[in-house]
Amino acid sequence: MINKENYKIVVLAKQVPDTRNVGKDAMKEDGTINRAALPAVFNPDDLKALEMALQIKDILGNATVTVITMGPPRAADIVREAMIRGADDGFVVSDRKFAGSDTLATSYTLSLAIKYVGEADFILSGRQAIDGDTAQVGPQVAEKLNMPQITYAEELISVDNQNIVVKRRIDRGVEIVKSAFPVLITVHGNAKDCRPRHAKRVIKFKKAMTQTEINELANGNCCNSSVNILKIGEFSADMLNPDNDRLGLVGSPTKVKTIENVVLTSKDNKKISNNEGEINEMIQTLINTHII
Ligand code: FAD
Repeated sequence: MINKENYKIVVLAKQVPDTRNVGKDAMKEDGTINRAALPAVFNPDDLKALEMALQIKDILGNATVTVITMGPPRAADIVREAMIRGADDGFVVSDRKFAGSDTLATSYTLSLAIKYVGEADFILSGRQAIDGDTAQVGPQVAEKLNMPQITYAEELISVDNQNIVVKRRIDRGVEIVKSAFPVLITVHGNAKDCRPRHAKRVIKFKKAMTQTEINELANGNCCNSSVNILKIGEFSADMLNPDNDRLGLVGSPTKVKTIENVVLTSKDNKKISNNEGEINEMIQTLINTHII
């Protein structure tokens, strides 16, 4: 039985390009994504992970929810948004050395940041990010931290000072899984939507900033960069004491060679009757042609 004064819950959240608005400038020549050309949003599964983290906190009471995002300085928006919705604090992991990271380098960097923040009892990530879509980062972080993992979680059933029980989505149904912690959980898109922004928290956290943002404000002489500004933490590469060969493009064996815009259009249609024979025939045709 674990009786702690304060449980630590970490949420991994990624700022992603809004893939509903992908244009011809979406990719750079080196196969990495051109983030500057696309509006940035909170990765949808990660909002659900945040909600599950807040539910764990609601039940355990004595818990802190910390959001960690790795990305360019503007990814601080994700941390602000998470704090407005209920997270206690957050960190932006940002350095030019991280540019071009594949899932291996991303999970290595995030695992160092999690260790830096302190021993986490629960780590929640989304199942997948809508830009890379690999669903590898959560499981790879668990491996690097030598931690058990529950993937595809869609509902928190219970949590106490010994175990967490969640419902997870599998191919043909659901599974109820119980685990001791520490544990990493990847949260499925079917999970409960994140609670909305809280008006009082909007007022409190909308001006929370990283030191980089505070410096930018001061350089622009736009405002008084007061010491009272609520701080969002920042990690540079050197702070994490990494093996530099495992960071960014250098540490990324995967290279995205090209990206294609595929528009699916129907060429013909077929009407079938509502009987088992014709339905089975249609399903077999779809399987044979690799449509399902
Ligand atoms: P996923 O593994 O899908 O993310 C799962 C969860 O991990 C997220 O929901 C979030 O909770 C957490 N997470 C992921 N990234 C971050 C972050 N930066 N900060 C905080 N939390 C995070 N890389 C490969 O290794 N192999 C590929 O085949 C590959 N294909 C790609 C194809 C395209 C079109 C693009 C644009 C990128 C591709 N990448 C690939 C790179 C990949 O997107 C990045 O490595 C990315 O940083 C992590 O992978 P993901 O987006 O697939 O995340």
